Amino acid sequence: MTTAYTPMVQQYLEVKRQHEDELLFFRLGDFYEMFFEDALTASRELNITLTGRAGGMEEKIPMCGVPYHSVDNYIAKLIKKGYRIAICEQVEDPKAAKGIVERKVVKIITPGTVLSEQLLDDKHNRYLVFLQEDGSELCLAAADISTGECQWFSAAGEERLMAIQEQLFRIQPAELVAYSGIVNWENLAAWIKSKVPECAVSVYQEEEGAPQYFAQHFGSDDVADTLVHDTVEHLLRYLHVTVKADLSHINSLSRIAKEQFMNLDATAVRNLELIKNMRDGSKRGTLLDVLDFTSTSMGARKLRNWIECPLLDLSQIRSRQEAVGELLTNVQMRGNLQDKLKAIFDLERIVSRIEVGSANARDLVSLRSSLAVLPEIKSLLRYCNSKLLQQLCEDVHLHQELFTTLLAAIVDEPPFSVREGGMIRSGFDLELDELHSIASDNKTWMQNFELKIKEETGIKTLKVGYNKVFGYYIEVSKGQSANVPDYFVRKQTLVNAERYIVPELKDFENKILSAKEKIEQLEYYIFTQLREKIRSQIVQMQETARALANIDVLVSLAEVAFKYNYVCPELNNRSEIKIYDGRHPVVERLLEREIFVPNNTTLNNNDERMIIITGPNMAGKSTYMRQVALLVLMTQMGSFIPARQATICPVDKIFTRVGASDDLATGQSTFMVEMNEVAQILRYATKDSLIILDEVGRGTSTFDGMSIARAVMEFIHEKIKAKTLFATHYHQLIALEDVMNGVKNYSVAVKERGNDIVFLRRIVPGGTDRSYGVHVARLAGLPKKVIDRAQDILEEYDNCETACSVQITPRAEKETAPMGSLFASSLQQQILKMDVMAMTPIEALNALYKLQDEA
Ligand code: ADP
Repeated sequence: MTTAYTPMVQQYLEVKRQHEDELLFFRLGDFYEMFFEDALTASRELNITLTGRAGGMEEKIPMCGVPYHSVDNYIAKLIKKGYRIAICEQVEDPKAAKGIVERKVVKIITPGTVLSEQLLDDKHNRYLVFLQEDGSELCLAAADISTGECQWFSAAGEERLMAIQEQLFRIQPAELVAYSGIVNWENLAAWIKSKVPECAVSVYQEEEGAPQYFAQHFGSDDVADTLVHDTVEHLLRYLHVTVKADLSHINSLSRIAKEQFMNLDATAVRNLELIKNMRDGSKRGTLLDVLDFTSTSMGARKLRNWIECPLLDLSQIRSRQEAVGELLTNVQMRGNLQDKLKAIFDLERIVSRIEVGSANARDLVSLRSSLAVLPEIKSLLRYCNSKLLQQLCEDVHLHQELFTTLLAAIVDEPPFSVREGGMIRSGFDLELDELHSIASDNKTWMQNFELKIKEETGIKTLKVGYNKVFGYYIEVSKGQSANVPDYFVRKQTLVNAERYIVPELKDFENKILSAKEKIEQLEYYIFTQLREKIRSQIVQMQETARALANIDVLVSLAEVAFKYNYVCPELNNRSEIKIYDGRHPVVERLLEREIFVPNNTTLNNNDERMIIITGPNMAGKSTYMRQVALLVLMTQMGSFIPARQATICPVDKIFTRVGASDDLATGQSTFMVEMNEVAQILRYATKDSLIILDEVGRGTSTFDGMSIARAVMEFIHEKIKAKTLFATHYHQLIALEDVMNGVKNYSVAVKERGNDIVFLRRIVPGGTDRSYGVHVARLAGLPKKVIDRAQDILEEYDNCETACSVQITPRAEKETAPMGSLFASSLQQQILKMDVMAMTPIEALNALYKLQDEA
């Protein structure tokens, strides 16, 4: 019985020891093999056959493998499932190796560091986020290695966790790595798992004496904050350790400047369905979907970023508006720009692949065709009036010399592989052309050789041929084979013929083969030279890419404005929002049979600061409130808006509390979720915010709910003073208009037609005390019996309403008159009279029974 593993298995175990957290893809010839536990996991996750391999011990070692040429697909599958993968290659030529071939892990692939196209979604950034804490300061650094972007954000004090969570939600990281020792890490990790389920989470331990990367990437202009510096440094270290390639395209570091942007919390992004819808999480029926007429992937990513980060500064918003306005009126320029942009590939990602060495000749062709249209884009923009467009035009660099080189160098349809030749055009390199002429000369040579050998042997029917397995040969029919000369060496016997070789033919074959090999090597060399040339221009090329992305978004916004008849909102700093005939950008697109009914909105900080909207279910309250929020948000993006006319003051934050949804991931009930969201709003809203509250208090009993709703409104009204839209079915609350300044009632108009109602979708001044629930139930198709019975019960309640109505009283009187006068009864009096402290439990129980009896 053997007791030791074979040298190969020992080598495997040695490598595996250093990569316990990763699945190890171990290169053996044309396969990547996995062994032991990794094999069990991979065969299960990838659904591939599990086999065994003799490894020196009595029992076979579990093993499974994937062919090297299709490895990307398998890696993509595993990464999607959250695994990390270490790729271990043979790092010496097996032919030259003495004993076992040397192997090394050449890269680690994690969800946040993938570059393969199978995994990158064109329209989304893929961020790796690193998180670190120091005392009361939390800092995050985020990098997208597929585009080279790198940003940081830090927050201190009590609200740091909330601020970091907001950023994490916005970034939607593919991977979150935390520096060990973050105090609230467990909770934060659970939070990210519930909000961004596909995010892979891990903790990082620093290695001693690790190299420093900050200066190499971002130069010596240090950031002042040491925590920020450290966080970015650790992020870079993590990237270098995993990717193991030159990452110098990550060359500019920017701060996520919250104060430049409107603050959209996770709830608002979700409730307003900006990026994903609430039904299936896809893009359908979202604001992004409506606004996206971008032509490039870079533009699509940038548009999303503009939606998530609306501006605050009036002049910045105005400069975007001017650009959109010019592109809207200049129809021809817009059309031409769209045509040209369509020809632009994902430059940001091509540049990144070039940087890390994973680009192929097809990438260079894509780059070349993108560069080809840049002069036209530039000349289209050259005479623009918009300052922003002028600036972007300047930021587009032409890279003419590079373009000419690529045009001369790369064939139109190069192969996928960069090692097998076929990439470089003839005429580009003299030596390569010579090698090609040797390699392609074979036809003439073979014909001449055939003539010569026929003459020499007198066998008129012999043929010279080639096949992949045996190489070059002379074929002689069986009938003639007795006549072949002695120096013919037989190589293969067929049914009717024999095949031979001769030394001259063998020499020729060697020459051709070595020419082919040389071609492959030389082409690869030329390719890498071209790659270096591009690398030297990477900073400029990134600037070009960014400018093109911005141009694309502006063109897209102009296109939407044109198609859907949007107008340019005027901006004001008078704290006023006035919209005439506003429309919901998404709902108006989704309506098939109906026409969207436009509505007006007025919000300011004196007589109309808080709007209470009443009306039956399905009347259009939520749609209206979201519409207001979306129009404000679109304005701050620099977009035009669906309205007849509008003047809008930027808001610092938009808060929403809309609809009821259980947060199953964290196990919270609907009511708890609702109250949490309301708590966040009350805590973080300011007088410059816009708040949307839909049916607050719905998740609990009527009186509880109404009391909470009223208290929340009072708090916002008196303490926060934010502009607020409040939809409610507690029609008692409309009385607040009389007791609170700045509160205005509106309702959604309905028309009664016999037993039916018609929704007019018009928001009109004044509240309504009718909720038409029974009518809506009829519309929804409840059985007639149930509807009739409900109608009867409703009438009974209506009759009793005068007797037991809920009074709204001014706040000052509240101390003496509780809100629900139902409670101001003898029951209450009796309870107050009891001396609870003097009662035994049995006495208390009896007293309760008595009260129950009387009630
Ligand atoms: P509520 O919040 O009052 O229950 P919703 O806002 O959900 O009602 O509106 C219900 C439906 O009415 C929407 O899905 C939409 O199809 C339609 N709707 C709402 N507002 C309008 C409008 N202004 N014009 C046309 N249809 C509308």
